[in-house]
Amino acid sequence: MPEADRPQPITQVFRLHLQSMPVRVTVWNEFRHERTDPTVAAHYPHGIHEALAAPLRRESDLVVGTATLEQPEHGLSEAALAATDVLIWWGHKAHAEVSDVVVARVRQRVLEGMGLIVLHSGHYSKIFKALMGDTCSLRWRVATDKERLWNLLPSHPIAAGIGECIELPREEMYGEPFGIPTPDELIFISWFTGGEVFRSGATWRRGHGRIFYFRPGHETFPTYHHPQIQRVILNARSEEHTSELQSRLHLVCRLLLEK
Ligand code: ZN
Repeated sequence: MPEADRPQPITQVFRLHLQSMPVRVTVWNEFRHERTDPTVAAHYPHGIHEALAAPLRRESDLVVGTATLEQPEHGLSEAALAATDVLIWWGHKAHAEVSDVVVARVRQRVLEGMGLIVLHSGHYSKIFKALMGDTCSLRWRVATDKERLWNLLPSHPIAAGIGECIELPREEMYGEPFGIPTPDELIFISWFTGGEVFRSGATWRRGHGRIFYFRPGHETFPTYHHPQIQRVILNARSEEHTSELQSRLHLVCRLLLEK
């Protein structure tokens, strides 16, 4: 049988399917702590955005870019956003410096269908507050607590491969009440050694877009190097883009390829 007529192995079909429709991910970071705090710089020498982007870049079905606050239009021009399926957001001390024009632009793209993954202190970002329409406030304590994120929806694509919980040896404490609208899906709930609990992984729909908030990631701890945290963010980028059917198809292909 000529080579071209041979049936392709099924794994090759899955791989080709994934590569034929790459998800375009942009990782946005305010990129301030890493340049002023040696502890943060030691964990994230190239910035939190590069630490978040690195595991995503290993996936053949992703096209990954980064953007930071100091770039023109914070790296989020009309063209950049038009070429983004999923935007990941990390910000903390410079929320107020993010231009309202850019926030309105990102919000519009979410309503049009772009996925948005908001991490940790991004709960107080202008974009998250605008989309939630709530205070987004919470209780917090600078701490070295152990955090355990209990997996409430093991069958959910974002929780795929996570098992019953994620344990982080040291993290900042966030506690309830968290000023958010009731989530469409609550995927993780955190427990801290101080006894507090927190809704730490939740999704909402706004317009045609989907939003996932994921709590861990205080800058003075190496949280984004933790394989399970990387896995959740990797899962979320697929879940948050395009249609539900397409994201599930993506997930099935990736899981089969990993076997
Ligand atoms: Zn923090």
